[in-house]
Amino acid sequence: MSIIVQKFGGTSVANADKIRAAAARAVATKQAGHQVVMVVSARGKKTDELVRLAAEMSDQPAAREMDMLLSTGEQESVSLMAMAVHSLGEKAVSLTGGQIGIITDSTFSKARIESISTERIRKHLDAGEIVIACGFQGVDPEMNITTLGRGGSDTTATALAAALKADECQIYTDVEGVFTTDPRVVTEARKVSQLAYDEMLELASLGAGVMHSRSIEFAKKFRVPLRVRPSFADGEGTLIANLGESRVVSGLALARNEARVTLADLPDQPGVTSSIFACMSKRKIPVDMVVQNVAVDGKATVSFTVPEGDLADTLTAANEAVKILGAGTIRSGTNVAKVSVVGSGMQSHSGVAAQMFQTLLEKGINLEMITTSEIKISVLVERDRCDEALLAVHQGFHMETELPQSPAVGIQQAKEQRLDVNSDEKLLSEIVGKLANMEDIVVSEVLLDESQSRVTLHHIPDLPGSSSQLFSAVANKNIMVDMIVQNVSDTGHAEVSFTIPRTDLQKCLALAEDLAASWENATVSHEAEIDKLTVVGIGLRTHTGVGERMFKALADANINIQMINTSEIRMSAVVDSKAGQAGFESLQNAFHLR
Ligand code: ADP
Ligand code: ASP
Ligand code: MG
Repeated sequence: MSIIVQKFGGTSVANADKIRAAAARAVATKQAGHQVVMVVSARGKKTDELVRLAAEMSDQPAAREMDMLLSTGEQESVSLMAMAVHSLGEKAVSLTGGQIGIITDSTFSKARIESISTERIRKHLDAGEIVIACGFQGVDPEMNITTLGRGGSDTTATALAAALKADECQIYTDVEGVFTTDPRVVTEARKVSQLAYDEMLELASLGAGVMHSRSIEFAKKFRVPLRVRPSFADGEGTLIANLGESRVVSGLALARNEARVTLADLPDQPGVTSSIFACMSKRKIPVDMVVQNVAVDGKATVSFTVPEGDLADTLTAANEAVKILGAGTIRSGTNVAKVSVVGSGMQSHSGVAAQMFQTLLEKGINLEMITTSEIKISVLVERDRCDEALLAVHQGFHMETELPQSPAVGIQQAKEQRLDVNSDEKLLSEIVGKLANMEDIVVSEVLLDESQSRVTLHHIPDLPGSSSQLFSAVANKNIMVDMIVQNVSDTGHAEVSFTIPRTDLQKCLALAEDLAASWENATVSHEAEIDKLTVVGIGLRTHTGVGERMFKALADANINIQMINTSEIRMSAVVDSKAGQAGFESLQNAFHLR
């Protein structure tokens, strides 16, 4: 019999009427002939209330006790939900994370799932009961209660769907589905009918609050078709599945509370990035927008962003890194926010970055940092202007109107795609099959790209419009830009490096020199042959250890890194072309891919 997992978020179970409505939905699904597992969040703002209560007891409540406390919110919801189902005349049983058999590691407040034993759930399902599971929680091997991180009920739902090989995982929430961007910020945002796993993975991890990003990792790894649906209506919602390339731009994400950290005056030698990443990874700090400036006068600078809540920890880790490296100064700032555009079709279209920068230029919004990867572009802007920036980019790409897209994929087709095991799928299922723990990192491939050149503009004026001018000129010549990293120095000047096909180098240098001549003191440098090494996997940025392992492997092979970009599905480093092959081999070894 088919199994459907239905997850209800906090607002969808906020009061008795809403709990009854959710129960009725599960009962209707059961009566339509499915086995039903419900995953339920704490009611309304319950978790926030509990966090506030804890703060009244202590400035630094013990992590173990915090998890013990927060897990009670879900326990309240599941028992009420079971009562509601009973009064509709169906059998139901509520279970805690521990009772279901969700075993996690012991990282309180951000525990990762190691395994799920489905035996008990199946027994209840086979007895004709609706199983109602607490979201967001598990137990560690010592039976301590753990939680998965705020918003973690989505992850419980997809992990259960994966373990049970469910036919569909439905996420019921307070909006019609996944929108082009947060409808609370941009009122003209539009519901999207379908998204590829990779797009949703990027959107969620870059700040789209509608789904916990780790839940999409499960969905992608185990090929769980996901549907985000409204709990207050009967809409079809948004299907998230294994879909091919679709729109050039499919969504925007905003991470409002970012902080930026710069480590300057570092020695320019192999191992610097590796040491920094190792210190960050030890504290599980998710580092994003990493910009490693091409060294001038023998000193390197590395800048990156972290969630503001992790800043204190980050600074401690940065101090450790400086101590290990024996040199370096640390700076940080908090008045920044990250705006990202995501679209799987971006990888084969030029000019997306140029268009985004042009739109922000028209609003006079300055770009403090830029990083790109195959399917996303992120910019760092002043926090006070981030809502305005989001709206402008939304309008700039005409996202309020339905864009042409591939025909809607029905759930049946998505299922067929799941069964249609091509080589990628086979590879993925082999790797996933060998994982010791369900939530372990998946690295499936290492790639070596020997077709690109690097161009860097130094000392460009840090004014709205510099990058826009540059990338418009590049797009006008039909040059496909791959990686872009831009950083602003203390001197109020920006430096931007980007990679392009080697065959376009002369054309690109000519226009870069022209532009540089129009800016006082700006200069151009380049490297005709660079190699790009890429690690491909799932959830790479949120698993803080991947960067560490990648950069350590390159450092051990004595390879200097010139540029870095990170995303949830790829992590790339630009290196000297003489080092590409050796780097490729060291990465294959580091990730056990040979
Ligand atoms: P739940 O309690 O159901 O888990 P959340 O509050 O976690 O709900 O997520 C739903 C909210 O996410 C919406 O109310 C919406 O404001 C916000 N959101 C942010 N980005 C998006 C987006 N791209 N699409 C839809 N909703 C979004
Ligand atoms: N109740 C938890 C939270 O508020 C988990 C969740 O809702 O997904 O973060
Ligand atoms: Mg949520």
